[in-house]
Amino acid sequence: MSGSILGDLPVLPLAESFALTAAYKTDSSPNKVNLGQGVYRDKWCQPWVLPSVRAAEELLHKERVNHEYLAIQGDESFNQKARELLFDSRISQQKNIRTVQTIAGTGANYLAASFCARHIRPKKVFISNPTWDNHYEIWKTAGPEITQQLYPYYNSNERCLDFGGMVKELEKGEENDVVVLHPCAHNPTGHDPTRDQWKSIAEVIARRRLFVVFDSAYQGFASGDPDADAWAIRHFYSIFFSDVSVSQKPLPAGMIVCQSFSKNFGLYGERIGALHLVSPPSVSTQGAFTHLTQLARAQISCPSLFGARIVNTILSDNSLRQTWEQDVKTMALRIRDVRSALRSELERIETKGDWSHIERQIGMFSYTGLSRQQVEMLKNQYHIYMLGNGRMSMSGLNEENVAYVAQAIKDVVEC
Ligand code: PLP
Repeated sequence: MSGSILGDLPVLPLAESFALTAAYKTDSSPNKVNLGQGVYRDKWCQPWVLPSVRAAEELLHKERVNHEYLAIQGDESFNQKARELLFDSRISQQKNIRTVQTIAGTGANYLAASFCARHIRPKKVFISNPTWDNHYEIWKTAGPEITQQLYPYYNSNERCLDFGGMVKELEKGEENDVVVLHPCAHNPTGHDPTRDQWKSIAEVIARRRLFVVFDSAYQGFASGDPDADAWAIRHFYSIFFSDVSVSQKPLPAGMIVCQSFSKNFGLYGERIGALHLVSPPSVSTQGAFTHLTQLARAQISCPSLFGARIVNTILSDNSLRQTWEQDVKTMALRIRDVRSALRSELERIETKGDWSHIERQIGMFSYTGLSRQQVEMLKNQYHIYMLGNGRMSMSGLNEENVAYVAQAIKDVVEC
């Protein structure tokens, strides 16, 4: 006993991806490769400010903007543009979608979890196994009384989505239980349901009357096409929450979509995101929205300006929007190219095993299938850093280091 409760608290490990980045920074090896952090890097493995973002920054600089507080729900013009990007311009006008600006995707997830804990009161929250590890932390912190029920997501033998396992687990849900879904570029596996599989998932969710939380952190990253990557969200809206769906019974209890602009606008440190609350067609969002903003007031009081201004400027201007669409394609294509380069190199040097999954997966990450021990060896012997579960952030690869990484993988796989 230390005489103060503060001294009795045990030391916790740093979150893995942050610990890896810190270790990478202090590594003096000229061969070091950072495949740990979920950030986009250009072909020189350097941070990339999107040309659309640079242009918006310059416009804002000329405008000599002020720095007043925003409203609790954020900037209305940004909120409208964020909604349009996610839902399309027609759906985004509907009265049953209300938006709050958030502190990036993390803030949106936290606000969603605290809103659900307080007002939806689920017994369980269904979270994919594996997932972005902060989902577990966020729900543990915001809803400690809610049981986290992990649904199978990944079939490690076949290296594909475990669709059967997922649906079977969701069938155990009860009314108002929450299900957290990744609409595209699932982190960490890079495997998404097909459109037909989404339709079946939607059917189970409606039958069990679950409350849906979509976590959209990679719109545009998966395919290079922001509309295609929003398909699952728009499908859920149109079958459950549009006027047409009134005739359809049963319906899910409601839906929240968490939207991050960190990856698709490269605005990581600006912490810009949004939360969209969607109610069934005949149900008013008015009261629920005031409860949401009350929580936002307690959590952040009012959100940050700069990222909202950048995103709003880009999405409000046709020419900047086109530049941004090109920027997203540039990122998605580079990631596709390094996937194919890594697979080709592994196959060229005849690395034991099947490496086709690297190209089948999409988005920022590859779930390589390397074991924890192999990942440790890559770090300790080759200065190559990636998450212990074998998740590799693809944009840390380039023409210069891909052969080195492939050879190191061959060495640890075959030793
Ligand atoms: N959700 C998922 C699935 C993610 O992968 C991430 C980031 O890695 C986030 C949310 C949070 O992103 P942000 O940086 O916007 O908080």
